[in-house]
Amino acid sequence: MSASEVRVRIAPSPSGYVHVGTARTAIFNYLFARHYGGKFLFRIENTDKERSKPELIEAIISAMKWVGLDWDEDIVYQSERTEMHSDFARRILDTGYGYRCFCTREQLDEDRARAREAKGPLRYNRRCLGLSRDEIDEKLAADVPYAIRLKIPEGETSFHDIVSGDLTRSNEELEDFIIARSDGTATYNLAVVVDDHDMGITHVIRGNDHITNTFKQILLYRALDFKIPEFAHVPLILRPDKRKVSKSRGDKDVLMYREDGILPEAMFNYLCLLGWSPKTDREIYSREELTEIFKEANFNAANTIFDEEKLVAFNHDYIAAASDHDLAAMVAPLLVEAGYTTKYWLETRWEYLRSVIGLLKPRVKRIPEFVPQAEYFFTGDFDYDPEAVAKQFTPEAAGLLSELADRFEALADFDHDTLQDTLNALAEEKDLKRAKLIHPARLAVSGVSKGPSLYEMLVVLSKETVVKRMRRAVEYIGKM
Ligand code: GLU
Repeated sequence: MSASEVRVRIAPSPSGYVHVGTARTAIFNYLFARHYGGKFLFRIENTDKERSKPELIEAIISAMKWVGLDWDEDIVYQSERTEMHSDFARRILDTGYGYRCFCTREQLDEDRARAREAKGPLRYNRRCLGLSRDEIDEKLAADVPYAIRLKIPEGETSFHDIVSGDLTRSNEELEDFIIARSDGTATYNLAVVVDDHDMGITHVIRGNDHITNTFKQILLYRALDFKIPEFAHVPLILRPDKRKVSKSRGDKDVLMYREDGILPEAMFNYLCLLGWSPKTDREIYSREELTEIFKEANFNAANTIFDEEKLVAFNHDYIAAASDHDLAAMVAPLLVEAGYTTKYWLETRWEYLRSVIGLLKPRVKRIPEFVPQAEYFFTGDFDYDPEAVAKQFTPEAAGLLSELADRFEALADFDHDTLQDTLNALAEEKDLKRAKLIHPARLAVSGVSKGPSLYEMLVVLSKETVVKRMRRAVEYIGKM
């Protein structure tokens, strides 16, 4: 494939819901373009004025940016090109590939009802194809409104699909569809063909729910004498119950995953594997690696399932690999929002925040999970988990905690190994299992029974805080 020729696009319609499938198809187009050194273009199909509100367009653009896509050239807004679309509808009429249809809505409804009753085909009965020149002129003189239909030739239409191979459909299945309405505006398929041609699109990579449109579009390319691009119809993304992902079934909008604390890199990597495969067992790939290995031969034909648990597992890996600094920047506003700290406090103690994040990140699968886990790093005024209290805060533990606090306080070096040695030494002296000290100490400094490695946590909290919290626990046990 000659690299410089590749031009692909994503062409979403703003519907108020940015489907994971749209993001995935955009990623395929992006990787295909980058792999071949071509161009990835972005077109917003907003000809439906009622539905295409500016905020919906913004939502699509934000979602694309969030998953990390950047596109070449300016965004193309289909709504700004309606005149050009109409001109091409006229051209189809003028060259004889199309014809005027003066049928009224009522007539068409009646035809359909009759065809349904007779169990015949529901496609347009071509009443207006047979109009004579005089009949047409008469109607035009009387200003009878008309639509333009494409005259579907006899025979069949075929194309080679990059994903599914050769596809053929009998033209009898395609009715003479309307390409321009009575107000002159072009319909969907014509607008797509005109724009793809005008934008120099070489490969149309889109969901396989567009295959029927593709047959119609190929006939339009031929009628307009445009070069037909190559097509790759990629599998649809389905819910675990095998139905289509949809807003009404409660499936999330792409940007909701951002709110849920999914990292865009994890989303990018996961989505890339829905309908495409690197053909190895490895699953985690950086964007650069994907760009390098992305080949159209590795598209899968079978529809694929969006599994949120799997996405979260990817996210876990991406969080573990992310830098403490980057994660801290994401978590900081959430900690402020939760009321654990202030922006100013965090700005002046960024190193501390980074250490906390570094400590917690192996245990976090989504960004907001940092917040409850980080609470005790920002306040000593927490309640102890009652279940853990019942088990760990015994009178014996109070004595041990008090002794341990004294020994910790006396340490010159408050590091992991010194703390471990100090605790071990006390356990040995008292002839106790270390757990007898470790569990009450963890509960005393954090209020909970689970968390990161105890010694690393103590180091991050610092000597002063640790000793103070252990003494607070001793006092608490005394009052129980
Ligand atoms: N606007 C269409 C959609 O959102 C896509 C058109 C295309 O890719 O050809 O499904």
